[in-house]
Amino acid sequence: MATTLITGGTVVSATGRAPADVLVDGETIVAVLAPGSQLLGTDLARGVDTVVDATGKYVIPGGIDAHTHMELPFGGTNASDTFETGTRAAAHGGTTTIIDFAVQTYGQKVMDGLAAWHEKAAGNCAIDYGFHQIIGGVDADSLAVMPSLVDEGITSFKLFMAYPGVFYSDDAQILKAMQVSADTGLLTMMHAENGPVIDVLAAQLAEEGKTDPYFHGIARAWEMEEEATHRAIMIARLTGAPLYVVHVSAKQAVEQLAAARDRGQNVFGETCPQYLYLSLEEQLGASSEEWGAFEGAKWVCSTPLRARAEGHQHAMWQGLRTNDLQMVSTDHCPFCMKGQKELGLGDFRKIPNGIGSVEHRMDLMYQGVVTGEITLERWVELTSTTPARMFGLYGKKGVIQPGADADIVVYDPNGHTSIGLGKTHHMNMDHSAWEGYEIDGHVDTVISRGKVVVDDNQYLGAKGDGRFVKRGLSQYLV
Ligand SMILES: [Zn+2]
Ligand SMILES: [Zn+2]
Repeated sequence: MATTLITGGTVVSATGRAPADVLVDGETIVAVLAPGSQLLGTDLARGVDTVVDATGKYVIPGGIDAHTHMELPFGGTNASDTFETGTRAAAHGGTTTIIDFAVQTYGQKVMDGLAAWHEKAAGNCAIDYGFHQIIGGVDADSLAVMPSLVDEGITSFKLFMAYPGVFYSDDAQILKAMQVSADTGLLTMMHAENGPVIDVLAAQLAEEGKTDPYFHGIARAWEMEEEATHRAIMIARLTGAPLYVVHVSAKQAVEQLAAARDRGQNVFGETCPQYLYLSLEEQLGASSEEWGAFEGAKWVCSTPLRARAEGHQHAMWQGLRTNDLQMVSTDHCPFCMKGQKELGLGDFRKIPNGIGSVEHRMDLMYQGVVTGEITLERWVELTSTTPARMFGLYGKKGVIQPGADADIVVYDPNGHTSIGLGKTHHMNMDHSAWEGYEIDGHVDTVISRGKVVVDDNQYLGAKGDGRFVKRGLSQYLV
């Protein structure tokens, strides 16, 4: 097996940083050594097949994006990234594992939904991948089969309090699914927005002629995110189920999570780069020459971008610092403007919901280090180590230590990344939600299970490099 030495860099973990060389044998990290170490009198750098010079750079565990939707059918179309294009873009951005959402729709068998997702992904991925299971129809059948997901390496499932008639679960269904969660250790992931109320508000706005993308954000009021978050927390508390709330965007929802955690409940929260950087006023309310007020469609996602004037973005960064929010995923769900987002011209309710960010998460979060929002160690923790622990991958993923998979990123704090079409853009989209963002850092080298897949902006991997990873139970739970 090929050996690689990453030399001269500063290894950064969730708990600290130190100059160290990292020795890789085949697909596995075998040693983390004092810089320039000699083993039994031999010069390691001369004895290995490949030397990666990381002088002046950070050496970090590969990013883990625990929330992606490749090829998701939604709103009469499909998310525009396939597993092939989406995972290749992820690799470019320093992410070496994704956890995507397999979908069971209402009336479908859970295991059929899972099998369909395996079929989409197998042999197509650039990096390793796991699955959560969306349970879009909680009934006797799906409840009975849920415990066996654990044997499949699927240790978390997602329910929706939004999207009536699509993925929606009512409170009785949530209760029953959480009872299974409490019994099995499966982690319940919740889309916490009150869908029935939101849909009425959206219909009323549309009737008044308020059809621009901006009103997507008005209809999806923060009150209905706070309310649903609280309701999910209380049903979880009643059943003893652990709860992970996805894509938190309202500061009031963070307060609900913090209060529950202070009471000792196993409740966790995730936010996404769009809720840290983007806003209702600037993006959903944007207009352009090409699209007019429909420009905002690029940023239609749920939960929605929230008003900067209300301080939500500031509160998300704060929550990440205080650990009221534990991790950052992307909710990568890309749609092109042409032929996809434009389905909602004249009616914001028909705009497919989603933003593409899988390529830029590591950079966007690193910019938070540059601007002083988070520490370097917290960057690694939020983007790699905690996702690994939360979803049962830690030890193999999320850490640079002997025995771990050699998923490693060499990150240059003196480099620069300009985000946008024609610059850094490998996602299968005709626009970038992050056009014009400038990052004071650069993903130099990406190693996935011992293989250099990206070096100096060049993709050196192949589809099928990535394998399905079976996950254990959440390592945050006793
Ligand atoms: Zn969701
Ligand atoms: Zn999602």
